Amino acid sequence: MTDSAQAIAVSDLHKRFGPLEVLKGVSLTAKKGDVIAIIGGSGSGKSTFLRCINMLELPTAGTVTIHGETIAMKKDGHGGQLPADRRQVQRLRTQLGMVFQSFNLWQHMTILQNVTEVPIHVLGKSKAEAIETAEALLRRVGLYEKRDAYPAFLSGGQQQRAAIARALAIQPLVMLFDEPTSALDPELVGEVLNVIGDLAKEKRTMILVTHEMKFAREVANHIVFLADGLIEEQGPPDAIFGAPKSERLKRFISSIH
Ligand code: ADP
Ligand code: MG
Repeated sequence: MTDSAQAIAVSDLHKRFGPLEVLKGVSLTAKKGDVIAIIGGSGSGKSTFLRCINMLELPTAGTVTIHGETIAMKKDGHGGQLPADRRQVQRLRTQLGMVFQSFNLWQHMTILQNVTEVPIHVLGKSKAEAIETAEALLRRVGLYEKRDAYPAFLSGGQQQRAAIARALAIQPLVMLFDEPTSALDPELVGEVLNVIGDLAKEKRTMILVTHEMKFAREVANHIVFLADGLIEEQGPPDAIFGAPKSERLKRFISSIH
């Protein structure tokens, strides 16, 4: 499928770490405006899947297509594969905004510098334009007043909102979230989910790994349940949470309530 409504297509993705096969053939398509939540137990391969989409981990086999362009891979001579063209990966990565569990802000830069860094130094935006965009984004996530602070002086929830602003600043086609609230104190989870929920309401395309099942049910239009490196079951939230079919999914859902 190469229609223009397609944002990301992952086809038959495999990932092996030595003897451990973490992903065993996962295929998933996100159309523009899709909010896809990936759920599953710890160690089921959720982070690895997201990291393969932006080539932070190299898939052992399978393809990743971003906005109709498939990332070209070549054999690495050890049973795996490598990107055939590093510049293609760098270019396509600018279509993906990634938010990690652990925020990963650059500690030696202010919040504003964190948000303007890639637009200025990778995307070649003028400083004035990057600052204007960054300030608007920081206003949106409620951090305008903190723009000149360093990350260490912010709460975890504020740091994660800054990380979301930083990811949005590259104007990505798709946002990828890897358990964005699981490193936060419980009282800070809501402020981050509110920001993500607003993005979902705007129909911003996203793939979100989360343990927040109530939130996933509210904001996602498609839920994917990963188990042992395969999609065990997928479908609309009401079907997945209200009428799960597989025994594993039933057990997973009852274990987290
Ligand atoms: P999840 O995010 O669903 O908890 P992960 O994708 O992080 O799962 O990990 C899936 C499996 O792959 C786990 O068994 C984990 O230990 C293993 N794994 C992840 N990253 C690496 C790595 N860089 N090297 C070796 N094993 C890894
Ligand atoms: Mg993970």
